[in-house]
Formats: sequence, C-alpha cells, structure tokens
Amino acid sequence: MKNIIFIAPPAAGKGTQSDMLKNTYGYIHISTGDLLRAEIATGSALGLEVKSIIDKGNLVSDELIIDIINSKLTEIKGKPFILDGFPRTLNQAKVLDKIIDDNYEVIYLELSKEEAIKRIEGRLTCSCGKSYNLNDEALKPKQEGICDNCGKKLVKRDDDNTLAFAVRYDNFLNNTKVLIDYYKNKNKLNVIDVNRDINAIFKDISEIVIND
Ligand code: AMP
Repeated sequence: MKNIIFIAPPAAGKGTQSDMLKNTYGYIHISTGDLLRAEIATGSALGLEVKSIIDKGNLVSDELIIDIINSKLTEIKGKPFILDGFPRTLNQAKVLDKIIDDNYEVIYLELSKEEAIKRIEGRLTCSCGKSYNLNDEALKPKQEGICDNCGKKLVKRDDDNTLAFAVRYDNFLNNTKVLIDYYKNKNKLNVIDVNRDINAIFKDISEIVIND
C-alpha cells in the first residue's frame, strides 16, 4: 500500500477522502490542520499563537509544522499514512523528502475557486475531525447540526469565512501550487477532478494507491 500525500486548495475534500481511505484500508490519517486545532483546544500559549495565524488564513511557520510532522511520523512507526495538509511549501516538501522513503503517491485534488467558495459556505465540522456540507446531499449530517460519528455539535470553522478563504486560496496559489510541478518532475503526481460524486473520486484514488 502506497503512502499518500494530498495537495489541494481549501475545501477540496482531502479530509473526507482521507476518512474514507482510513476506514477502508486502515491508513493513519495525519491532518496538520487537525493537529494544529487540537493544540488550540488545549488553550496553551502556542495554541493561542497558532489560532491567531490560522484564523486569518495564513500559514504557520515551516519550522513548527515540520516539528509536528517529524514527531507524528516517528510515533506511527512505519505504518501506512496519509498526509493531509502537508507539505504546503516547497521547503516543507524538500524536508519531507529527507524523512520518508519514496513509497508514496501524490494526489492533487483539482477544484475551481468558485466551487471551493461554495463548499466553504456550506461546510460544518466536528472537533473529531469529520466534516459535512449542507450544500451537498451526500455530505449532510443525518441529524441536523450533530456529528454522525460521535454525536457532538457541529460548528463552522473560524477560518471558513470569505476573508480568511481569500488568504488561504492565495496561499495555495503562491506557496503550494509549485508542488504540482515538483512532484510531476519526480513522477509522483496524480491529478483528480473533485467536482464529482465522492464515491467516484474515492474509486479513482483507491486505484492509484492500492493497485501497485
Ligand atoms: P486545513 O485544515 O488543512 O485547511 O489547515 C488549516 C490551517 O492550518 C491552514 O490554513 C494553515 O493556517 C494551517 N496549516 C495546516 N497545515 C499547514 C502546513 N503544512 N504549513 C503551514 N500551515 C499549515
């Protein structure tokens, strides 16, 4: 089973697809956004600092995020993993090259800016990491406002607003998009159109990562 690295603009569904891959194949899902939000939830000084960066839509420092990824990859001891949200800069990708072997595929989830905005508007999340979308029948919670997984109350992420979205999308264009060429040159890039049904997307991703 290949390890997976997702590259995507905001709200392209990397969390949802990671969840499906985790439940079907037993991958360990490493979401840097979730790890940062967990730090915020502890109320620590670092968490407060991270919150002020994330809420504006900016990226946290490479140094901090690389530290987090390093300890997480050490903790999982070689089990198959999904990187959801890392790398997001060329520097992060170069560091990652030094800490993992080449048994991975990069999956770029392609989505237009207009569609991403629509998804951000309808998105609700749970503190357990699961996300929902009120604008998509397949992604609505069974009970309004409640997580299907754990029964907690769904909330709107503090960075899911028009202002922070604009910054996040610009960050994607200015810092992350360069990774598409980087991984294409390494022969690792797979492009998936995600303006489709989630099961069709999942089938395509499964074929890339399982049948090797
Ligand atoms: P996500 O849940 O992937 O949308 O990430 C939420 C936010 O966490 C991003 O908008 C960034 O502020 C921060 N973040 C997550 N991953 C990274 C990363 N690899 N580098 C820098 N900041 C990150």
